[in-house]
Amino acid sequence: MLRLTKVNKYYQVGTHSLHVLRDVDFEVADGEFVAIMGASGSGKSTLLNILGILDDYDSGEYRLGDTVIKNLSESKGAAYRNKFIGFVFQSFNLLPFKTALENVALPLYYQGVTRRKRNQIAGQYLERVGLRDWADHTPSEMSGGQKQRVAIARALIGKPRLILADEPTGALDSETSKQIMDLLSEINRSGITVLVVTHDPEVAARTQRTIRLRDGKVVGAHEASASNPGMAAAT
Ligand code: ADP
Ligand code: MG
Repeated sequence: MLRLTKVNKYYQVGTHSLHVLRDVDFEVADGEFVAIMGASGSGKSTLLNILGILDDYDSGEYRLGDTVIKNLSESKGAAYRNKFIGFVFQSFNLLPFKTALENVALPLYYQGVTRRKRNQIAGQYLERVGLRDWADHTPSEMSGGQKQRVAIARALIGKPRLILADEPTGALDSETSKQIMDLLSEINRSGITVLVVTHDPEVAARTQRTIRLRDGKVVGAHEASASNPGMAAAT
């Protein structure tokens, strides 16, 4: 699915250069469910932004499928992103004055799909995340867990091969977090590769493998998550 080889990333802060990713090396196979853990500031979001083609890196190589993601034009980057990747964020990033259905349908709007068709498809995705009866509600009328389901439906509607989730349960209570992880697990079982950034060990334990970052470096062997020790040999 994807491979990072000695990826380095610096941020320029005034005259100072901050080395935020240091020779990051790992591979994620098709269909894996992987957690990325690390303390605040360890580079998790930076890494996810590079994986999501939202940000560039300074050296090394990022391969997504057969393509080296490097110095792509804005439009090429967007094309790969839209074709391969769905995003889920801690803060849901829904449009507040749009209904659940309209939020889910939004990616199809940008693809030029007719309103009738995109509403029909969005309805199917809302049903898939258990929100069929919430289509006409706006985010302010929904709970955090429901909003995250809407965001996940929106991420799925472009038929991505990869879901990148940055602290998807960070704003949710533990019971709701479990339900969101149930949904992400189900999505993974349907064949979509899922990467979840988290600092919650219970969330990481629901994945197959954990990659740990410390100060921008991958540390330790890639451990199998507690719930799935058999994966160690496989990876
Ligand atoms: P995490 O998601 O693990 O908390 P980040 O990837 O957000 O970590 O940040 C890693 C480091 O890079 C931190 O020291 C952060 O302050 C710094 N950083 C993140 N984004 C920027 C930016 N746009 N400009 C400068 N420094 C940044
Ligand atoms: Mg972060």
